Amino acid sequence: MKFVARQPADGINVSKTHPLVEASTLVVGLSAIFVLITVALIFLVEIALYFVPAEKEAALFDGWLPDDVLSLAQSDERLIATQDIVDRLAMHWPESPYRFRVEVDDSDAANAMALPGGLIIVTTGLLDQVESENELAFVLGHELGHFKNRDHLRALGRGAVLSLFFAVTTGDDVAGIGINAADITLRGFSRRQESNADAFGLTLVNKEYGHVAESWRLFERWEIQDDSILRFASYLSTHPSADDRIADMKDLARGEGWRLDGAVAPLNWQQKENPATLR
Ligand SMILES: [Zn+2]
Repeated sequence: MKFVARQPADGINVSKTHPLVEASTLVVGLSAIFVLITVALIFLVEIALYFVPAEKEAALFDGWLPDDVLSLAQSDERLIATQDIVDRLAMHWPESPYRFRVEVDDSDAANAMALPGGLIIVTTGLLDQVESENELAFVLGHELGHFKNRDHLRALGRGAVLSLFFAVTTGDDVAGIGINAADITLRGFSRRQESNADAFGLTLVNKEYGHVAESWRLFERWEIQDDSILRFASYLSTHPSADDRIADMKDLARGEGWRLDGAVAPLNWQQKENPATLR
């Protein structure tokens, strides 16, 4: 009997399933895996928040600064003045577990952010935009609100979460692991987290000044100046749009019976640069 090798049938490597069905199975499968990983990471942060009390967090991040921040000299008067405002606002939150530390990032993009360990970063771009201490105080009070609700840890980017988790589990300090502010702040906060932070910030401002005058004036100016909006993109990409925000703040102030007008404090560094703007 002679053996005749059978040729494989044509198209043996071609799946009987329609290619579009196969492609969508792949896409759905990969998306499901991606979603699972994301959910797991969010869960990981919640666990970390449970096991890492604010005091531990403060110790872990003591003296830490993100790698991509170009901080001003400690003697810079803008830094000293901003730290002073934060200290005064924080006095109205005596049970705070953080010792707040301000760093000014030399960057034109106006922004302010709350970072682990009680670190508050404001950019020179933001300090150039504010026209009174009261405007700046609200922006800072809002960031304090993120610490109050520990939003700043929930907002950590995925890479930063893993680094933080690694640091916490191994007991290392985080100074050496190299987290960028950009990794952390890209995700921004939810609408609810933002309005909670606004409410807390406004409460602190009212306690400090006895009124909330000019708290939202910066946002009002930003609303009018459409052409320059791009310059402020960093703050606006991580914070809600101004219109709803201002309305909510006014509602809160009226509901609480806070004064909407009062004496506004000038900023020292602006007084020297431009005496004409003295108020
Ligand atoms: Zn915010």
